[in-house]
Amino acid sequence: MSLFKLPRWVIKSIDKIMRDFLWSGPDLHHPKIRLVSWARLCRSREQGGWNILNLEVFNNALLGKWWWKIILGGRWCGGEIFRENYFGSRPTWNLYHKQYGRRSVFWNGILKVLPAFRKNISSSVKGGSSTLFWLDNWVEGRAPADIWPHLFESSRDKEGTVRDLLNMELAFPFGDFPREGSLITTFRLQNSTIKDGRHWKLSSNGMFSVKSFYQFLNDGGLHCRRTPSILKGGCTRKVNLFNWLTWDNKILTLQNLADRRCNVLHDITCVMCHAEVESADHLLTQCSMASQIWGFFCQLFGDHRRPNSLLDMWGNWRSQFNKSLISCWDLLLRAVTWNIWLERNAPIFDCACSSATSIIIKIIHLVLMWINAAPDSKKAKLEEPSGKLRRSLDFLFSHDLEQGAQSDLVPSQSEG
Ligand SMILES: [Zn+2]
Repeated sequence: MSLFKLPRWVIKSIDKIMRDFLWSGPDLHHPKIRLVSWARLCRSREQGGWNILNLEVFNNALLGKWWWKIILGGRWCGGEIFRENYFGSRPTWNLYHKQYGRRSVFWNGILKVLPAFRKNISSSVKGGSSTLFWLDNWVEGRAPADIWPHLFESSRDKEGTVRDLLNMELAFPFGDFPREGSLITTFRLQNSTIKDGRHWKLSSNGMFSVKSFYQFLNDGGLHCRRTPSILKGGCTRKVNLFNWLTWDNKILTLQNLADRRCNVLHDITCVMCHAEVESADHLLTQCSMASQIWGFFCQLFGDHRRPNSLLDMWGNWRSQFNKSLISCWDLLLRAVTWNIWLERNAPIFDCACSSATSIIIKIIHLVLMWINAAPDSKKAKLEEPSGKLRRSLDFLFSHDLEQGAQSDLVPSQSEG
């Protein structure tokens, strides 16, 4: 992969095996529903994905390192053969030659990543003899051709070096662009024998890395701030992934199953309240059962409002808690959504149902288990809320289950 660009059909075949394994397990011949697109899953966690390797992008990122070797010049294994085959007498620092030497599978592969590579290289001009005036990124990391496109269009020497063009005393009307223009007009070149420097813009040390190029090619600069906090919760990975799916409305609620035309129940009414359409928002935040559960915990930790949607839950609603409670709530809301989902499945698959009280008890046990498994430093921060949760268990056990099913469960503040 680091030498040749893989054919598209090879990448597709490998991706298909990985995708089927992810959603179906070892039984690849009976694929299950794919909840999220492969491209989305291949994004980094910071960008809202699961950080699964995107083979095509990884292949391109690996090929990018050849360009780094080329522009740095120097002596490296096979370098002479390489330069003779593909550059001849032309300088290797010029990444904008229209025609390169002979074509080969290798060369065609690395040419495809050249445009993305060029964008991420900046030059520090010293002698000015190995930096293209218009095309290389040397004016505060940008190319003059991008800053003054109309001037570039009218230029007769589009591939001239900085040394060539500055010495020609060109009358550029830089007055319209005072900052970058003054930078060029006041620029003083060093001796022509001093080589210009090249830096990789995507890393702090200026050196090329496959990882940084992969991230650039894969994510395209998109950012998603909420997703990382969902996937990094201090509970089991399965619960974190479930919550990630709920946040993105990808869980198989009856409504989503109907949208995918595979709802065998032929009904999309919520199995918990039998009153509304079963969407992710309804089931996990708005349903009467969910309201009782959220109401209990909001009351237990102060008179907080309940979340009214999943978007609200991961956004504004969480921001109302102070630092001492946010860690506990991060566990609680994961446990709440996970247990509601399990209890929602019980009547469908096992013909069983539980009261709100018993679901709350399960939630508290789950959260306490996660807290016990947390590192000591985190456990200390969660001491106060975990004590509250333990004490509330006494209240819940003494609460009549039948009564609990009919009325709101509101713990008195003395219980807290
Ligand atoms: Zn409902």
